[in-house]
Amino acid sequence: MVLDVSPNEEASERLKMQIGKQLSPESYQYFLSDATKERKPSPIRGLFPLENKPGVISLLAGKPNDAMFPFESFSFTVTNPSSSSQSIPVSLAGVDLTAGLQYGATAGLPRLNEWFVGLQERSHGRKSSEGWRLTIGNGSQDMISKAINAIINPGDPVLIEAPVYAGVIPLFKALHCDLVEITTDANGVCSSDLRSVLENWPVGKPKPRAFYTVPYGCNPTGMTATIERRREVLQLAREHNFLILEDDPYFYLYFGKAERPPSYFKLELEMPEVGRVVRFDSFSKVLSAGMRMGFASGPKPIIDAVDLLTSSANLQGSSLVQAITLALVEKWGYAGFFAHTQAVAEFYREKRDAFEKALQNHLGELAEWCTPEAGMFFWFKLLISPNPGEEGDSKELIETKAYEGGVLALPGTVFLPNGRKTAYVRASFSLLTAEQVNEAMRRLRVVILKERET
Ligand code: PMP
Repeated sequence: MVLDVSPNEEASERLKMQIGKQLSPESYQYFLSDATKERKPSPIRGLFPLENKPGVISLLAGKPNDAMFPFESFSFTVTNPSSSSQSIPVSLAGVDLTAGLQYGATAGLPRLNEWFVGLQERSHGRKSSEGWRLTIGNGSQDMISKAINAIINPGDPVLIEAPVYAGVIPLFKALHCDLVEITTDANGVCSSDLRSVLENWPVGKPKPRAFYTVPYGCNPTGMTATIERRREVLQLAREHNFLILEDDPYFYLYFGKAERPPSYFKLELEMPEVGRVVRFDSFSKVLSAGMRMGFASGPKPIIDAVDLLTSSANLQGSSLVQAITLALVEKWGYAGFFAHTQAVAEFYREKRDAFEKALQNHLGELAEWCTPEAGMFFWFKLLISPNPGEEGDSKELIETKAYEGGVLALPGTVFLPNGRKTAYVRASFSLLTAEQVNEAMRRLRVVILKERET
């Protein structure tokens, strides 16, 4: 069912939002999907906090008795962020181990949740008293997928940058969304295109309630949106009443020379009202992808709706992974965490440089690209079409000929929701040595030259 808001209803929704700096909780009724409005909290999980009242004897939860769990301790060693030659031992025992082995709160272990809230304050200037909250999931993908289900009704129009992270296309397609693509360039999402799309929105067509974007080191384009573009997107979100879904797994992989632009979550503090950004963080690129550690931060009604989905889909993220993460970040402290992420960003900057050098050497006159300042992707256009002015199509060349020639990459069409042809290719530079990258580009050169001959 598509959401149909008449102009009058829309105006009154907006008026409600003018009150105070924080959007009112009632404003979010407009942003919640019909299914979310029907969803009821778990009768048991909602009562968990009552168990903490001193003196209460709880007969409530079906928690197994941890005395029968066979784990006695967990010990591991991690790198010392201030001295890479040293390692630090970390162990999990006592109540912290029990918390890691037991069922826990839907939003995650309270101490870890608080640590992440403190991280958001340090990274994005967001204080915990501002009407937003945070919840922990199994990687950011888990949170993104639940947030989409919490907001989007089947058939809804959704604004998405294009090319877009391929991992969200099936989520929107499964809901039969009308995906409205917003172009991107070397400065990130083209806010002028977004403005023009919104200002020319067909009369009578339901308005979009969400815009999805990857603001730093975008997957696939590698580009980082400038502050000016971000400001205009925030302004448009206010003018046209939509939420910004800020999917930001590459935030800590920023290695640009200039000072990084602020996140949408931070920048919205400049706006006359706050509460339009739902932010997704991931520890996959900085701690471990296999841990599946990610979290969502944003307006309370939206994060509450994500929690409702978690409590019925998988109850909570893994307590053990959370306990391990907590032990690690408490050992490091925020300073250690930032020292580590800085080292990670520096590592990827070197990989980026090695990749670009090989790209320049072998495909300098056969491809076009912009240099990424964050993340782990190069997005380059192969100059394969014999007809000037025609973009060409990288699909067959990459999927078949390049693979036969010993190189595996992704044709750009994978990142276009409508699957249209493109000469672009996405290459990840995260894992390869300089020698491997050099050889890959050399092989690609052979394939492209052969293609241009035919
Ligand atoms: N969003 C984007 C843009 C990504 O590139 C990825 C990882 N490929 C994810 C989300 C999912 O990350 P996670 O491992 O935290 O689920």
